[in-house]
Amino acid sequence: MPNLSYVNPSQNSPWGTYLSQVDRVVPYLGGLARWAETLRRPKRCLIVDIPIELDDGSVAHYEGYRVQHNLSRGPGKGGIRFHPDVTLEEVMALAAWMTVKTAAVNLPFGGAKGGIRIDPKQLSRKELERLTRRYTSEIGLIIGPDKDIPAPDVNTNAEIMAWMMDTYSMNVGSTATGVVTGKPIPLGGSLGRVKATGRGVFVVGREAARRQNLSLEGARVAVQGFGNVGSSAAELFAGNGAKIVAVQDHTGTVHNPNGLDIAGLMSELHHKGGIGEFAGGEKIGVEEFWDVPSDLLIPAALEGQLGLERAKRVKTQIVLEGANGPTTSDADLMLAERGILVVPDVIANAGGVTVSYFEWVQDFSSFFWTEDEINVRLDRIMVEAFRRIWETADQHRIPLRTAAFVVGCTRVLQAREERGLYP
Ligand code: NAD
Repeated sequence: MPNLSYVNPSQNSPWGTYLSQVDRVVPYLGGLARWAETLRRPKRCLIVDIPIELDDGSVAHYEGYRVQHNLSRGPGKGGIRFHPDVTLEEVMALAAWMTVKTAAVNLPFGGAKGGIRIDPKQLSRKELERLTRRYTSEIGLIIGPDKDIPAPDVNTNAEIMAWMMDTYSMNVGSTATGVVTGKPIPLGGSLGRVKATGRGVFVVGREAARRQNLSLEGARVAVQGFGNVGSSAAELFAGNGAKIVAVQDHTGTVHNPNGLDIAGLMSELHHKGGIGEFAGGEKIGVEEFWDVPSDLLIPAALEGQLGLERAKRVKTQIVLEGANGPTTSDADLMLAERGILVVPDVIANAGGVTVSYFEWVQDFSSFFWTEDEINVRLDRIMVEAFRRIWETADQHRIPLRTAAFVVGCTRVLQAREERGLYP
């Protein structure tokens, strides 16, 4: 492993997982391999202190990050995560996966990611707003519509993007809608953005199923994580004839071999903040989720959820990675050995960044598209990207993840080579 003095990754940590993915792609890069070290180093990591006044008058300090992994193909792009487990190393890995993702889908962006090490549920709404605004000011040094464009990720949403947009605009003295995506519609947000990642998961899952001769009609789908990504994907699979046989979130797991009622699950989530107590299925244990027989398994919660032990047990045909980095490196090898097709995050969940790209384009041109136009264009881009990756996998007889890295990293390193080294 390369020696970066500021992190010490283990094999299955997010950055360690990413580095082993890079190692696997190098043999397929031809002459571009001389630039491979670029992929193993973030271009820039900013660590910021975020002091805020709490409602009781005391002052609390939080640690925030913005990492720009690679900007060779365009401005940085990547979400902002608020979570107590956020670390610099995690943000580095998430930024790097954004580099590969934007390139694999051929969007004119680099890869970036940000986060604050905080449990946002412990803050009042006003405290959360102060936190977001101070963080935005601190990273304002390196973000901007043509530099680096944040978006929502775990525990951040359109309202937080609105505060970010407003803070950045106040600091630069003009309204800069294009500085973030995933904004509310009246502030230059795009129709279709909220469900875009889940829609992309569905489109890519549909394409993968077709190539495996698996009909979606009656197909059994298990979903871990019933947030933005998991719930939207589940809704579309159910709407296209599949049965959602198990769902797990941080509040529990429910199972129903005849299919869970999605509208009921959505209402449960809306009213109770989780699906753990949903009455339309049998409650099962956290580990039992991984034993439920399915045709498609969608990890759409956090990274590292599908480790080696779980990979030995899962009974499914296709793992469709809604989350970023849900499968550890050793689990990936185990799934391949067991003949289970893994559709990797960098393509499976690229729908969100694709519609973020549409949002950014619409903001620049101040001309907004209909939801139908957005969904049709999203479908077209995802189908084309998946086709290219599938053919690359076929050509080299490599897993889809390595193929997605071949397609993405080749584009990144071509840009690197053509730009040349400064000075
Ligand atoms: P979210 O906060 O809306 O939902 C996260 C879900 O995961 C929740 O249902 C939560 O209960 C569940 N969860 C958390 N910890 C869990 C655990 N230990 N076990 C089971 N369930 C658990 O987040 P999201 O936006 O849906 O993001 C989910 C994943 O998708 C993340 O990896 C994120 O990086 C990735 N992703 C999100 C987007 C996007 O547009 N939102 C785009 C690309 C990738």
